[in-house]
Amino acid sequence: MNKKINSIRGMHDYFSEDLDIWHKLEKVFKQVLNSYSYEEIRLPILERTEIFQRAIGDVTDIIEKEMYSFHDKKGNNLTLRPEGTVGCVRAIIQNNLLCKKKLKFWYLGPMFRYERPQKGRYRQFYQLGAEVFGLNTTDIDLEIILLTNRLWKILGINFHLILEVNSIGSQLDRIKYQKELVLFLEKNKSFLDEESKQRLYSNPFRILDSKNLNIQHILNKAPLLSNYINKKSLNQFNNLCHMINLYGIKYKYNPNLIRGLDYYNDTVFEWKTDRLGSQNTICAGGRYNSLVEELGGIKTSAIGFAIGIERLILLIKSLNIFSIKIARINIYIIFIGEENKIHAINLSEEIRDRYPELKTFVSFSNLSLSKKIKHAVESLSRIAILIGANEIKKKCYLIKELETKKEFYLFKSELMLKINNIFRR
Ligand code: ATP
Ligand code: MG
Repeated sequence: MNKKINSIRGMHDYFSEDLDIWHKLEKVFKQVLNSYSYEEIRLPILERTEIFQRAIGDVTDIIEKEMYSFHDKKGNNLTLRPEGTVGCVRAIIQNNLLCKKKLKFWYLGPMFRYERPQKGRYRQFYQLGAEVFGLNTTDIDLEIILLTNRLWKILGINFHLILEVNSIGSQLDRIKYQKELVLFLEKNKSFLDEESKQRLYSNPFRILDSKNLNIQHILNKAPLLSNYINKKSLNQFNNLCHMINLYGIKYKYNPNLIRGLDYYNDTVFEWKTDRLGSQNTICAGGRYNSLVEELGGIKTSAIGFAIGIERLILLIKSLNIFSIKIARINIYIIFIGEENKIHAINLSEEIRDRYPELKTFVSFSNLSLSKKIKHAVESLSRIAILIGANEIKKKCYLIKELETKKEFYLFKSELMLKINNIFRR
């Protein structure tokens, strides 16, 4: 046998057991996003590398080490998208969508980051992203939080997610704060790990986000960004918190919450769970009022969020909800003897004409009858239809009801009625 070739580390295949959950999620996403008037946008998976370099910030995890970049045959430097916001902003600028007053978008698709694969962290993973353009009031920040909260409620996971919020103010505020933060971190340099030492001067805010417990501990005494934030941003943030409270959503103010990407300002938020270890953020978002201009568009404020689908599925599975088993096959047709195959195919086609929503399966394999019945049962099929010489002679079919184990003969018209009774009740 030849040596088998496996998938790339951190890139996974998904099968129907998981995809049943995916489909349910997609249905809920579409329903909820639609109810908030978001429109779908489908974006390329490849973009020019420079667009990410310009937007995301040089000293971020993504730009420093996580991008899948390569040259195409013409020498263009391209990158498999590590996130969706940048491509979405590129698309709305390129297609003048803001002039057409299209303001709210969502997308769902794979993202690629060269990270160390572990539970909840992969090299190809899926995100549902949503972006809103042109509105710079906290009303829309609140609406996005209400939207995500509604998703969790419909999915039945709201008790396992907690909202964390912060305001990271303006770029100017952060410059002032950065000076103080660096002074503090210099004094505590001995507590920093190698990665944080490297970031001390290049991007000290990332240290606030460190998952190292010792560092988190010393950060309790660090100067607070909130003391450096301008009055307008602070008022807006207080108002947002007040509104979140009014809508009965529990939240935690996390003064060290920042986003991994440079382009954010003011409101940032994450929905976290305590059920997934350190990969605990299911959904992350924030405001990015300068990105559209940065990428060549007219100055337009914006806010967005992204949900990590695999992490959401891990959470759903850990809670054992959505346990309804979906049948892989509804009607299982078995012919006995090669000469009866054509009758089986014809019957299956007629059933598909009349009942296109049902999963009708003709067993062409040469397994034994008992193995075929076993397969039908495992596939949660409700009935098996047997076609042998005897049945053809009598112009009828032998039906096995797999749950009740009842067996009986039916003519074709009776069979069609029976199918109707079983599946359309
Ligand atoms: P983390 O701190 O966990 O690396 P991040 O700040 O890099 O997250 P974002 O860029 O904000 O993540 O992405 C939004 C969401 O996408 C995350 O909250 C998470 O649910 C999901 N996500 C990000 N990276 C991965 C990954 N490598 N594998 C699976 N899901 C991911
Ligand atoms: Mg990351």
